[in-house]
Amino acid sequence: MWNTIGHTTVIERFESAIVNHNISHAYIFYGPRHVGKMTFALDVARGLNCVNDSEVACGECSQCSRIQKQLHADVHVISTQNSENKTSIGISDVRDILHVSHMKPYEGSYRITIIDDAELMTMEASNALLKTLEEPAEQNVFLLITSNEETLIPTIKSRCQAIYFSILDSKSIAGYLSENFEASNEKLELLTALCSGQLGWAVEAIQNGDLLEQRDTAIGLFWDVMHGELYKCFEISEHLASEYYKNSAYVLKTLNYWSDLYRDLLIMKKADISLIHNIDKKEQLSELLDSCQDKQLTDNIGFVLESIEQLQHNVIPRLCLDNLIMKINNKRN
Ligand SMILES: [Zn+2]
Repeated sequence: MWNTIGHTTVIERFESAIVNHNISHAYIFYGPRHVGKMTFALDVARGLNCVNDSEVACGECSQCSRIQKQLHADVHVISTQNSENKTSIGISDVRDILHVSHMKPYEGSYRITIIDDAELMTMEASNALLKTLEEPAEQNVFLLITSNEETLIPTIKSRCQAIYFSILDSKSIAGYLSENFEASNEKLELLTALCSGQLGWAVEAIQNGDLLEQRDTAIGLFWDVMHGELYKCFEISEHLASEYYKNSAYVLKTLNYWSDLYRDLLIMKKADISLIHNIDKKEQLSELLDSCQDKQLTDNIGFVLESIEQLQHNVIPRLCLDNLIMKINNKRN
């Protein structure tokens, strides 16, 4: 049984490849974050090693069970989380596994190497991997996972089959959440709307309350910036700019929440309220909507996205955030 939710066409394709012994030696799984690429990669690892003749990836046999418990000697996951410097995947993180990848697997039918956030491999690691991919060994399969496949080096891309993973539909997400977690219907509905097709985010938000708290803080700052006096807004800018040096992800997430609110406002302008993400903020959004022109909304969403990009390209945070706040503050407009 596959643990992957949705992605039926991709599952069918791999089921057939596994049954017909027609698996390639390298794949790139690409698409948005949190849509199940890693779950699928582990499913493929089980499918290729499962010893049950009547089912692909049965989940019950010794092979499936050892993979599920992360005890299997031939299934390796390389990621920034377990890398040496935590921000990239370097040569020392891939060297050992590349070294054994021309040998037969130890305990299963296939050795599977999963590289998560593969775009974060250093050039040295990428080149070493490329060398291995150029001389593929039997019974060794590489699964590269990325949400940013454009930044993988073209020579690696040309050696792999690319498989796209799209966002999931709300029905699959709502069904999975209600079957697997105990929470009020209201909370499950909110998470289904907020995760915008990225089930992994919803699961993380259920397991870690901080995520929804962070969102509330970000939305609180958004109202302050939209309605506050300019001097108050600059205090917010100062706060975010100083946070950026300690925790850039927090500031980028805050701005992403802001752009999502503008997205919802634009959708509400077109009167299709059923498609908004922030369903628990409908009233506040409606109030804000009355004071916003269409053009202002499209401009503002552009300003927020532009600022996210500038911050990622090392523009001085205070300068960038002051500029953004001046542009989107309602009192000035
Ligand atoms: Zn099995």
